[in-house]
Amino acid sequence: MQSRKPKSLKIANMAAVLELLRTTHRASIAEISVRINLSKTTVRKILDNYIEAGLVISVGKGESTDEGGKRPELFAFNKNHGYVISLHVTPEMLLSVITDLNADITHSKIIMLDRQVHVLQVVRFLAEAIREFSAGKNASGERLIGVVIALPGLVDCDRGMSIYSPHYPSWGRNVPLKQMLIAELGADFAAPIFMDCVNRYQAFAELEKGRAPDRGSFLIIDALDEGLGGGMVFSGSIQRGSQCLCGEIGHMILSPNDETSCICGARGCFEAMVSAKRVLRLVRDGHAANRGSSLFDGCAPQQVTLERVSECAAAGDEFARALIEDVAGWYALGLNNIVMVSDPELIVLQGVYTRAGDYFVERVRARMSELGGLPDVEKQVRVEYSTMGDERGAVGAAAFVICNHFRSGHSDRAAVLSLDGGQRRPPVDGVTPEPAVSSSAQ
Ligand SMILES: [Zn+2]
Repeated sequence: MQSRKPKSLKIANMAAVLELLRTTHRASIAEISVRINLSKTTVRKILDNYIEAGLVISVGKGESTDEGGKRPELFAFNKNHGYVISLHVTPEMLLSVITDLNADITHSKIIMLDRQVHVLQVVRFLAEAIREFSAGKNASGERLIGVVIALPGLVDCDRGMSIYSPHYPSWGRNVPLKQMLIAELGADFAAPIFMDCVNRYQAFAELEKGRAPDRGSFLIIDALDEGLGGGMVFSGSIQRGSQCLCGEIGHMILSPNDETSCICGARGCFEAMVSAKRVLRLVRDGHAANRGSSLFDGCAPQQVTLERVSECAAAGDEFARALIEDVAGWYALGLNNIVMVSDPELIVLQGVYTRAGDYFVERVRARMSELGGLPDVEKQVRVEYSTMGDERGAVGAAAFVICNHFRSGHSDRAAVLSLDGGQRRPPVDGVTPEPAVSSSAQ
């Protein structure tokens, strides 16, 4: 007999069950029933529908209750029901990955990119990876729920456009990358395609799999050998700003009279002051006075890398620590300014300086607290390292596509990214989900 509950309520109940299973390892009918306040009969019916559609699987029996009852059947979200192709264009390479529906990488491939690589060539590389990956998946019957491109530089996600990429200046401005990719893939290609600045996806990665609080305000700061970007989340919602500039903290000018020029053409930008180029210049300049430094053990001054400086500092080398102290000072200045604008509860540090270990993050915290600017106000922001690895951009991008897919009734991008009252927004996708449609999808 059909329930008389309104359709929207039924859909919401189904959505709540799927979301619970997506965010829980495994659960019994009784547990689901208690956690989302539905009768066991209703939960059973919903699970049957999802099992038939392939989205939920039975994963064996749990422990029996204290009263010695029957061992309950356990259910889990079927992460292998579909897959995502996530393509991250870094300043050095194209990292292409396939993820399951938990945004865990199941396959990856790297193509190195030259700084002068033509944008058409990049589009061809992207299309080749998509074709190769989806052809390889054809036999498994898994469904491609979306393709996502994470780019460096300024990106207009609504128009699928690279506004400007300082790392690839030859691309030019306002490049309609998504349109070009769709043309290259041909009319038969039907999966939705998403595109945004990688730092926003890296922030999403922290929301879904990392340190970030479920709701609330935080930011990620990602430092590469050359380049520093940010992803800002206010009250659970990723920020883009009026012209997609939000998070371009690398080009906040901290030292306008400094001789250090930035990749963008200005002087004294945050990213220039903490860049490998500047630190390695200081290494070479300091070589004569610091010959005993472990930085130079079996390594010529010209061969020292930023990673080596970070690692030697973590190991206690005095000269490396002095260099990292300088960087920590610029970080503190940059972060302190951002705190006064956005008042986050957490700043997550990602990237190359995480290799400098506790020493670096403790110095950043100390230098921040030494800075003025409302000195009588205790600024309670936490500064912590990310626990995510080098794939954080690709993983965050895939997680974005998956969340969008399972919450696709929210066609607005911001709604997809928002978290409501501490609860993750429920999917309104039914048993047989359709391709997600959002303002950033094709
Ligand atoms: Zn700059």
